[in-house]
This record gives sequence, C-alpha cells and structure tokens, in this order.
Amino acid sequence: MASESSSAVSPMTVEELTLAVKWSGKEHTVRVCGDDTVGELKRRICEVTNVLPKRQKLLYPKVGAKLADDSLLLSQIPLKSSFKMTMIGTVEDDIIVDQVESPDIIDDFEIEQDEAVDIKDKEINKEKLRRRIAQHKIVLRNPCREGKKLLVLDIDYTLFDHRSTAENPLELMRPYLHEFLSAAYAAYDIMIWSATSMKWVEVKMKQLGVLDNPNYKITAMLDHMAMITVQSDHYGVFDCKPLGLIWAHFPEFYSPKNTIMFDDLRRNFVMNPQNGLPIKPFRKAHANRSSDDELMKLTQYLFAISDLDDLSVLDHKKWESFDGVSFKKHRYS
Ligand SMILES: [Mg+2]
Repeated sequence: MASESSSAVSPMTVEELTLAVKWSGKEHTVRVCGDDTVGELKRRICEVTNVLPKRQKLLYPKVGAKLADDSLLLSQIPLKSSFKMTMIGTVEDDIIVDQVESPDIIDDFEIEQDEAVDIKDKEINKEKLRRRIAQHKIVLRNPCREGKKLLVLDIDYTLFDHRSTAENPLELMRPYLHEFLSAAYAAYDIMIWSATSMKWVEVKMKQLGVLDNPNYKITAMLDHMAMITVQSDHYGVFDCKPLGLIWAHFPEFYSPKNTIMFDDLRRNFVMNPQNGLPIKPFRKAHANRSSDDELMKLTQYLFAISDLDDLSVLDHKKWESFDGVSFKKHRYS
C-alpha cells in the first residue's frame, strides 16, 4: 500500500530532504521538500538560526549560483544528503532594524479571477499551506474574542509609509490609524501580518503606539515566516499570505465567512481572493498626510458589513461603492 501510494505521485516534487546546514561553527538540520523553493529553505534556516532569509548566503558543492535564486524549486537543484550546506549570514542587530532593507516594492500584478481560483486550488499550493499549518505557531498577544470578526492588516504602505524618511516615525503613519483601529475593535479582532521580520513588525508597531493603546488590543502578529510560496503558470513563483493558516489554528473563532484582510498588494490574497480588500497604498507621507482619509472611509465600510453573516460573498474590490441597504434588500428579500 505504501509503495503504491509513493509511486503514484512524482517523487521529484514531494520527496523530503533533510539537509545539514553549517553556520557560525554549529550544525543545524532542516527538513524541506522538493517542491519547496530556495526561499522556503531560507525560511526554514531562519527558524533555527534567526538569520533573515535576505541576509543568508548559501554555499553548496557543485550547484554554482543556483541557491541565490529564491524562486528556484529545490527539486531543480542536485542536493544530496551526503553533502553539507554552509550558510554565511549575520543575525539582524537587536537594536538597529534597517528600514531601507525592508522588502522592495515589487509591482503588483492584477491576478485575474480565474487564475486566482486556479492558484488556490492547485494541489501543490494546498499542500504547502498544509505544511505551513503544521509547522507554524501563531502566538496570541491577546485572546480571541467570541462573536468577533477578524481584520488582518498589512503594514508597509497600508498603515505606514516605510519608504519615506522622517525624524519621527509618527510622521509616516497613515492618518486616522488609531481612530480606525479603535473603531474596528468593537466588531473585529485585529491581527497584523507583514512580509518583513517579526523584529521589524514589533519595532514598527511599538513606535506607532499600536501595542499599548488603551482603546484596542492586537490579537496576534504574523511575519514572513507565516507566508507561503505559491506557483502560478502566469506569474511564476511568489509569496503570499494564506489566511487558511489562521483559520486552521483558530477554527472556533475565524473562518472565510468572518475574515477580511487589507493589503496594498493583491497577490497576497491569492489563496483567499474573496477575503482580500486591496487598499490604496499610502506613499509619500509628507505630501499625502493632510489629504489621505482612506482609513476613515474604510472604517465606515467595516461597520457597514460587520453584521453580515458571510463577508466572503462581497466583492471587496468595489468597497467604495458598497451600499449596505440595497445589498441587504437584494440578498435577503
Ligand atoms: Mg504592503
């Protein structure tokens, strides 16, 4: 039975690899699969060494520069368990978090609805999500609250302009942030999910006063380690934020029906396209600070939809023209 099932799937893609990684005089073991990417391998190494993926240089006999390409599948690289991998890299300094090195702006691509459905339904991507669910723990800062919906928020360009410079980071905060979070908290638990590192997330949220505001609490914070790399026929390999990870860990509280996520990059929604709201990016804070009222308007939207039983039937792309009264009439008459 076992041999039958293992021959039924391609051994090249699902084969598990155990790799020995030498770093800073110590040896670590990481487990990956052939259908993981180099980027995913670096995340696993980050887990055991705390060296951020972007700071890792991997050395391995006979593979040349292949390990520098994060999008390459491990099955395309001749890795053998008899060789050891060496990683060169430094743990991010405890105090200095380099703002300039937060992820580069990569132009977002408009993923067609059909393609998004295709990506989320691909067995290989579902398997990656299952693996992430099994590996990744979400640390709760505050308990989940019965009967609340869930709001998941990106940081960079969503709540904060991380590319501009200012003497005081508060100058780069999106206007109405605290008013928005305070209002949302009445009906939604709030989680923060950034593609950067947890250190950066914590520094940023502390600087903005989000972690000690008396009017709301943050339920949890997630970083790049919670993301998965998905494969798409049209767009190649890229990272996204699968809400299924949260739903699997807290099924009694959160589901596709009561979760909404704001992000300026819509590819981050690709595993759950019905739950994502593409927010207008907040850039050039100094010029736009006096006029940006996106969070104020979104507060009204969150209120308007907060008593609906199923948020996933909405088209969040059209949030600005959402008319709650006629929506309910149309749906429930
Ligand atoms: Mg962003």
